[in-house]
Amino acid sequence: MLPLVYHSSYSFPLPANHRFPVGKYALLKNALAGDFAAVAHQYFSAEPDADYPRCWHEPNYVEGFLTQSLPTMMARRIGFPMSDKLIERTLAANKGTLLTAELALEHGLALHLSGGYHHAHFDKGGGYCIFNDLAMAAQTLVAQGRARRVLVFDCDVHQGDGTATMLAKHPDCISVSVHAARNYPAKKPDSDLDIALAAGLTDHDYLSAMVDALELSLRYFQPDLVLYDAGVDIHSDDELGYFNVSSQGLYQRDYQVLKRCLEKDIPVAAVIGGGYQTELQKVVDLHRLLFKAAAALKP
Ligand SMILES: [Zn+2]
Repeated sequence: MLPLVYHSSYSFPLPANHRFPVGKYALLKNALAGDFAAVAHQYFSAEPDADYPRCWHEPNYVEGFLTQSLPTMMARRIGFPMSDKLIERTLAANKGTLLTAELALEHGLALHLSGGYHHAHFDKGGGYCIFNDLAMAAQTLVAQGRARRVLVFDCDVHQGDGTATMLAKHPDCISVSVHAARNYPAKKPDSDLDIALAAGLTDHDYLSAMVDALELSLRYFQPDLVLYDAGVDIHSDDELGYFNVSSQGLYQRDYQVLKRCLEKDIPVAAVIGGGYQTELQKVVDLHRLLFKAAAALKP
């Protein structure tokens, strides 16, 4: 049985011309109804929980967000207009990644139809990320003794700067980022391992660098859980990414990450991460590849 995590708040209302593809979560859920008709799976939801970010983020920042009173510059860095729906969605999606990680520990593999808020730092958000679901889930499971060492393996095209700073002083929560060297964020604080790749990279070179980074991380850090950010903005058609990776290459990336963790008996929880194309269905079709790879590995 493949556990999937989703909450009805994920696709929340944004102004019509907003660049963030907020409709993709509900569309992905609909698409999977067809894709997964013959795949044993079960849906789970995490309810919004304001106490969760309070455990891991700076108190004034958390309360400022929850009361919609963040300074203008801080809200602008995040990139969303503040609203009750944004708060509900943020709290549900952050807890959803923790739930996905817990389900992965139980079932070996679990997938979140959201998540990957890797630009959120301890005391500020950025790039559509408010609280860092990956860093919070890793720290929670280690603090609770449910995992000894957690690896965040981030393959979104953008560097995981927030994860890097939040986990910098945490020896049992490891941040690894495979990303485009020249892209947002301009300032890239050190992860435990950063693989910065040149623009224009094609399937073969991308996959070879990614597999090297994964194998090195698994061998060196010996995690007992992997949180995988499967951002699809590495695709050649992405409007915010600069790689030339094809759909087949993207599928291979997801398949290889999941397979290499599972064959070493390391549970893996995947989140969908970023993906930016004006035509929403094209982004959704790329996110579906992660779920197809998971279904192929765990029938
Ligand atoms: Zn991204």
